Amino acid sequence: MKLLLIEDDPMLSSALCKALIHEGFVVHPALSGREGIEALSSFKPEIVILDLGLPDIDGTEVLKRLRVKHIDLPTIILTARHSIDDKVNALDVGADDYLEKPFDMAELFARLRVLARRLSTTKTNKICIKGVILDLAAQTVHLHLQPLTLTRREYMVLKALMENSGRVQTKDMIESKLYGWGEEIGSNTIEVHVSNLRKKLPAGFIRTIRGLGYTINQDLKSSPSH
Ligand code: CA
Repeated sequence: MKLLLIEDDPMLSSALCKALIHEGFVVHPALSGREGIEALSSFKPEIVILDLGLPDIDGTEVLKRLRVKHIDLPTIILTARHSIDDKVNALDVGADDYLEKPFDMAELFARLRVLARRLSTTKTNKICIKGVILDLAAQTVHLHLQPLTLTRREYMVLKALMENSGRVQTKDMIESKLYGWGEEIGSNTIEVHVSNLRKKLPAGFIRTIRGLGYTINQDLKSSPSH
């Protein structure tokens, strides 16, 4: 996967490059905002890591220009800024995720895997499991071709589970997809959403893995009566 790294600190850039290449990415390092913007069209990255504090063009401005032509290009921002405003602003202008410096490499890789997975499912647009069709483009869900009415958060929970079917999603993983940074989350909120979803979905579609989280039951037999 082609990754564009826009980071002006040469030491950090080279350390990140080494680690990312080792992780299997094809990396193009850009040491300024201008270089980064040029590389968008010459290198055609599939994923971008963008430092907010750049010497020539501010990172949020780079992000704004990036979004004009590349609305879906997954972008993680790196920030040394600790103010909430900067993070909110970066998310508002279209960052998919952010990491505060200093960060752990393992955490960066984990975030990149999430974006890469989202990228691969976005290309297919629809996920169909046992008669449940989740349309990522239209953001709708159908059960045996009948539309289901879901709240936005129920949709997000179901999307997280269906995108990762066959793998267990912990409550923390689902919460991280559902709530913005700093949002208050009730302790049983995910349980409530799952319980409401179960009333609308075939029995046994969402399995509870005790002590771990939830997964989509792929062994469920399709019921012809629906
Ligand atoms: Ca910097």
